[in-house]
Amino acid sequence: MDRPLPVVDDSNRHYWDGARQHRLVMQRCVECRTWVHPPRPMCPGCRSERLVPEELSGKGRVYSWSVMHSGGNPGFEQRIPYAVLVVELDEQKGLLTIGNIIDCAAEDIEIEMPLEVTWEDVTDEITLPQWRPAAAVATS
Ligand code: ZN
Repeated sequence: MDRPLPVVDDSNRHYWDGARQHRLVMQRCVECRTWVHPPRPMCPGCRSERLVPEELSGKGRVYSWSVMHSGGNPGFEQRIPYAVLVVELDEQKGLLTIGNIIDCAAEDIEIEMPLEVTWEDVTDEITLPQWRPAAAVATS
């Protein structure tokens, strides 16, 4: 069985439309500029309902993670062991998102490790944002 895929609805369509275009897009408050994720009808900062989709840099850091060593949900057995990350995005303290890490062994994950988004095109409709260690910035 394939793993279950996200259900797209009116509240999260901006996020999945962005992902399909390989752009990380989340709600942002027009009034106080707070980023809001997961999607909500109201800004937690100022209670405005004027939230619009805006693109983020796709950069973040490891906030927390967990490594799955046994099956639980159908469709994930062949991935075991795999890591589920909580990523804090660079744009805002406390702006968190969830994903898997690729190009990195579970034992090499560290708190605060710099990450960048990458894209897993699963179907014509669904692209999953995933995370990998950020490319080292060249210094001179
Ligand atoms: Zn606000």
